[in-house]
Amino acid sequence: MIPFNKPHFSGKETLYIEDALKGGHISGDGKYTNKCQQFFEQRYGFGKCLLTTSCSDALEMAAILLNIQPGDEVIVPSYTFVSTANAFVRQGARIVFADSLPSHPNIDKDTLEALITKKTKAIVPVHYAGVACDMDTIMELANRYEIYVVEDAAQAVDSFYTGGDGLKKPLGSIGHLATFSFHETKNLTSGEGGMLVINDPQFVDRAEVVWEKGTNRAAFFRGEVDKYGWVDLGSSFLPSDILAAFLWAQIENLDDIQNQRKQHWNAYYTRLHQWADAKGIMLQHTPDYATNNAHMFYMVCKNMKQRSALITHLKAYGILAVFHYLSLHKSPFYRNKHDGRALIQSDRYSDTLVRLPFYYELNGNDIDYIVKTIKKGIS
Ligand SMILES: *Cc1c(COP(=O)(O)O)cnc(C)c1O
Repeated sequence: MIPFNKPHFSGKETLYIEDALKGGHISGDGKYTNKCQQFFEQRYGFGKCLLTTSCSDALEMAAILLNIQPGDEVIVPSYTFVSTANAFVRQGARIVFADSLPSHPNIDKDTLEALITKKTKAIVPVHYAGVACDMDTIMELANRYEIYVVEDAAQAVDSFYTGGDGLKKPLGSIGHLATFSFHETKNLTSGEGGMLVINDPQFVDRAEVVWEKGTNRAAFFRGEVDKYGWVDLGSSFLPSDILAAFLWAQIENLDDIQNQRKQHWNAYYTRLHQWADAKGIMLQHTPDYATNNAHMFYMVCKNMKQRSALITHLKAYGILAVFHYLSLHKSPFYRNKHDGRALIQSDRYSDTLVRLPFYYELNGNDIDYIVKTIKKGIS
């Protein structure tokens, strides 16, 4: 059986967890939490980084920091994970769903301006499959209309965007805020885990308070205030240092993980792309301004029938391929709140996108077998 996903352990996870235990500090904001946060701040030039228990939590922190209120509008792609929208709905926002590009599940920038109203507070571009959205256009709109941008970079660790200024910017460094996930299915993992990146300095102090249950505890431990108390909204968004120790073992191996995943991605692509073209199946398109961080390998089938047949066929040969997002504007929770616009591309990806097995331990033989089986299954 070839599973769809298998978490990769770099080998030092338990060693660092034991070290955290020995150190005696296993709650949040400990030694390993700081090591992880500093890594991201230094390697990618991110603003302040705060580890969270998930990307969903980081998105919820973002919604609190932006003071999202009932009546505010937030623009979110319909083809994304529920948390991208949920975090803002919890604060009372109305979600204005945007469609995807015909060439890629990323948000269609050309449809955005028409969605902006006086109530629009934020745009949340999702870098699907770790491929950058057109950030120049999104940031220009955001600046012009005074809207905040929260990058949902859950899938986008170690991926980049090159804008009109020619600078290669890490995803997560561009929006006012950005969120990452270290869920089991992501390139770096701690089982469950996430991170909020605060690039706009106006949010830094408050972010630390929201992170620590609405208290100024972090400032207290730095000796900046002589007592700590309840000063704002918040929750327990910070992970145990045990999880951060696990994550640190992964971070140390980031380059190895990325090299291995890129090899797998290229192996799939070279074996599939000519065949896919001939069959009218679309593979990942990486625009010139984006990089590919080998988060996933997906195919966009011609229709739902072809996709269902393919998934069933692969299963019969012991290969687990999956599809995921269903358009959020049509979800049982949101369809009655949606404004009724058709979002054709989002529906198309919901119906036709399939993700192939993708994880560190895959090898060339597995990929050969998967590719051969796919080609046998689609006539
Ligand atoms: C994985 C994912 C999330 C949620 O991440 P968690 O860490 O599981 O909360 C959010 N958005 C996108 C685009 C994701 O891929």
